[in-house]
Amino acid sequence: NKKVILKNYITGFVKETDMELITSDTIKLKLPEGSQGLIVKNLYLSCGLDMRGRMSKHDEPSYVPDFVVGSVITGNGVSKVVYSGHPDFSVGDFVCGMTGWEEDSVITNPESFFKIKDTDVPLSYYTGILGMPGFTAYIGFYEICAPKKGEYVFVSAASGAVGQLVGQFAKLMGCYVVGSAGSDEKVDLLKSKFDFDEAFNYKKEPDLNATLKRYFPEGIDIYFENVGGAMLDAVLLNMRPHGRISACGMISQYNLEKPEGVHNITHIIANRIRFKGFLIFDYYHRYYEFVEKIIPDIRQGKIKYVEDKVEGLENGPAALISLFKGLNVGKKLVVIAHE
Ligand code: NDP
Repeated sequence: NKKVILKNYITGFVKETDMELITSDTIKLKLPEGSQGLIVKNLYLSCGLDMRGRMSKHDEPSYVPDFVVGSVITGNGVSKVVYSGHPDFSVGDFVCGMTGWEEDSVITNPESFFKIKDTDVPLSYYTGILGMPGFTAYIGFYEICAPKKGEYVFVSAASGAVGQLVGQFAKLMGCYVVGSAGSDEKVDLLKSKFDFDEAFNYKKEPDLNATLKRYFPEGIDIYFENVGGAMLDAVLLNMRPHGRISACGMISQYNLEKPEGVHNITHIIANRIRFKGFLIFDYYHRYYEFVEKIIPDIRQGKIKYVEDKVEGLENGPAALISLFKGLNVGKKLVVIAHE
């Protein structure tokens, strides 16, 4: 059983050598007598930014526990059940949930897994558009941003797993949508494939405030925040009265030992901005509602999705790190085995 373990706790920028692929002798995985657990064969592993936080040692308990040095790292994945002690799951079912970065896993908490009911779409989609990132885009946009037709929407990290969907949801709602991304290739993708009205490469813009004024002469109603830092500061200068910011993530801060300050925060007062953070875990009771709503649009081609796949667990650590270098184009995932 090949697995990826954490070698040491991390401060600063995560490196490939902070993880290691190890191969253990083939041992038959076993559940304790009477356990209601599962044994699964892992097929697709999501490269998730949330995994970075778990690679550092925290003094305070967090909403997800830190990884344990020397043990397998975990993340969202799609797996096939090969043994079931649980009445809700059968051998051969496809499931998605938090699994190990290894070929086969013992699952002791199957109640936190979702059974995949619709298997006529690519199963890898359950790491992305039909998994945690897609669900995050859905709740973050419709629930947290409370959008209205015709509003001006800005999305950062717009070509990523979450952002590409937020932009498409906003277009389907009749909003004007602009996205930012870190390469010209991604900018083209936003406009040609995902139907964004406009997009720009933030790395080529020396003055983000001026850039946003150019794309939003009348200001921004909704900012879907994925990056934080300088972009957030520039957005705060360009929000319209009663605008909404959904604080989904702040990737520019995750590898910093000390987060940067936000200089223009007082602008939320005079403009009566609602700036709301959220964690998708709080909404999992609505997961199937989301799948039922979005799957017809995927089948009809109304919503598109771009994945960036690598094959083999040995390429997992590099794939994970590529997120922080902006090297992924779309949802990054590792293919361990095909269904
Ligand atoms: P992506 O697939 O978008 O991958 C990350 C992208 O972020 C990179 O491709 C890169 O794109 C961009 N990036 C990397 N470093 C920086 C940087 N220093 N400054 C600006 N941009 C950077 O990620 P996801 O779509 O999966 O995640 C988007 C956000 O959503 C993240 O902040 C994540 O933490 C958050 N999230 C929050 C959840 C919640 O419950 N609140 C749940 C799931 C995700 P580029 O080339 O464009 O720079």
